[in-house]
Amino acid sequence: MNTTALSKCDFSFLEEGFSARDIVEQKINESSLTDDRDAFYVCDLGDVLRKHLRWARALPRVTPFYAVKCNDSQAVVMTLASLGTGFDCASKTEIQLVQSLGVDQSRIIYANPCKQVSQIKYASAHGVQMMTFDSEVELMKVARCHDDAKLVLRIATDDSKAVCPLSVKFGAPLKACRGLLEKAKELGLDVIGVSFHVGSGCTDAETYTKAIADACCVFDMGRELGFTMDLLDIGGGFPGSDDTELKFEEITVVINSALDKYFPVDCGVRVIAEPGRFYVASAYTLVVNIIAKKVIMDEDSSSDEEDEGTSDRTLMYYVNDGVYGSFNCILYDHAHCLPTLHKKPKPDESVYPCSIWGPTCDGLDRIVELCTLPDLQVGDWLVFENMGAYTVAASSTFNGFQRPDIYYVMSRPAWQCVQQICSEGLPAPAEESALFDFPSCCGRESSLEMPTKPCPANVV
Ligand SMILES: *Cc1c(COP(=O)(O)O)cnc(C)c1O
Repeated sequence: MNTTALSKCDFSFLEEGFSARDIVEQKINESSLTDDRDAFYVCDLGDVLRKHLRWARALPRVTPFYAVKCNDSQAVVMTLASLGTGFDCASKTEIQLVQSLGVDQSRIIYANPCKQVSQIKYASAHGVQMMTFDSEVELMKVARCHDDAKLVLRIATDDSKAVCPLSVKFGAPLKACRGLLEKAKELGLDVIGVSFHVGSGCTDAETYTKAIADACCVFDMGRELGFTMDLLDIGGGFPGSDDTELKFEEITVVINSALDKYFPVDCGVRVIAEPGRFYVASAYTLVVNIIAKKVIMDEDSSSDEEDEGTSDRTLMYYVNDGVYGSFNCILYDHAHCLPTLHKKPKPDESVYPCSIWGPTCDGLDRIVELCTLPDLQVGDWLVFENMGAYTVAASSTFNGFQRPDIYYVMSRPAWQCVQQICSEGLPAPAEESALFDFPSCCGRESSLEMPTKPCPANVV
């Protein structure tokens, strides 16, 4: 792996002293000169790097295999490939994408427990061996068309405390595991370990502890049957921004102690994970433009007072991206998106209850049911932070509304850091390497005046 392919990706270097936020400002200024005020994204690839350093520091024992479905942009995948992560692919197309960027097959896990036969054959033909399963039927398909697969048994978890549960659809219950392992043995297949996914938006870190303990039981079963169990895959669900109830480092402290207890360092088990949102959510900022507006007067409010009528109205803003586009995360990922203002409001400026709507003709296309904003005009901009996960990846062009352009940027120090990691690997976090101070040399400090504080720099 080298960074040549990444350097061919379409990204621009930030001039010294400029941040991704300045590019937001610059693009807004450019398009404000015209009526062509399309929604757009700015993606800071340096933020993906900061996440990687943060991961390495918080989970030094765990190798990340980025879940491609979260955001399959070539620039993101290439950045991660250069940083040396592995990849969780769920389909032939995702495998193709990752392999086309030169990623070795050993760095891919085909982590979809329910695969189409032709795609299992594709994986087999392209050397992808690690794959998950959670049923007998899957084992029979694999035995038929990929007999040198290295299988990972996906177990169900208690995801009752997750925002997006997954264990209804995937994961074998503990009591089914012995039977599945016996079936694998009978079919002459190789099982190398256990995986799980606690669901996304996990609100209780103990869910990971329970799942790691369960995995430990399944390791014992597998070893009794003669399998060499040496891979634990702790899945995804790690928050991608710092505005969640449960913070990344709060989860990783719990995971590390569960790993020490059930899979101590010297037990010979390699630990991987499948983070998706963690790596990309905060790298993307979406900027939308107000294309229409309605003022709804509240009939009930008595207007005898000389009040300029600030609390007697609700404003409806229509913007040029919605739930059929980038904001599909509201429907599919239960995301809550709130805008920040582009223009700093005056200190005494009145605010109103507002709703924000997408551009399509569907009544479902609502981004924010209720928030407070000043009286904005058609042509004004709204900024949405943390828009990298499950946004562009699943957006449609329903009703003829095109996907926003994405401007990828990276600072030169970030680029040098990626190149260094690509050629020399990550330093052990214990070594006080200058690399880990990287975030301070290209923080997210902004010269843009944002009324709501942008998310703080990720301190590694
Ligand atoms: C979606 C998915 C992930 C990534 O989940 P995040 O919440 O984005 O971290 C990881 N593993 C599997 C199997 C998935 O389906």
